[in-house]
Amino acid sequence: MAVYKIVEIGTPVLREKALEVKEVTPNIKKLLDNMRDTMYAADGVGLAAPQIGVSKRVIVVDAGDGPLELINPVILEKQGEETDAEGCLSIPGVNGDVTRAAQVRVQGLNREGIMTEIKGEGLLARVLQHEIDHLEGVLFVDVASKTYKSK
Ligand code: ZN
Repeated sequence: MAVYKIVEIGTPVLREKALEVKEVTPNIKKLLDNMRDTMYAADGVGLAAPQIGVSKRVIVVDAGDGPLELINPVILEKQGEETDAEGCLSIPGVNGDVTRAAQVRVQGLNREGIMTEIKGEGLLARVLQHEIDHLEGVLFVDVASKTYKSK
């Protein structure tokens, strides 16, 4: 198990557009393993590679139904709208209300390099959108209708 240091807002990598993964190498699988460990160690529900200082299009998510891993994720479809509170491991002490699609369909590669599709609603849909935003250098405070100190 390896836990990475999570970088915080103000670190340039969080504002970069992350690079597409050309090939799912053993190093990418190791990155996925370590990102998952890091997410759980930090009590998070999602983590994007830029948050550990790696500018690659890789995310891990666990909205309560076990870990999901996606490489080069793309949102294919969005439906509905929902506003809820969000936080981010890279912005400690802050929450904000963010309006996002209520349901999403996301496509990406799994760790075997096979194209897979994930449908999510509720928290899973929210976390997927939040993590995919990270790959574009977008943070939740950019899209929040208001932000406040977390309790
Ligand atoms: Zn985040």
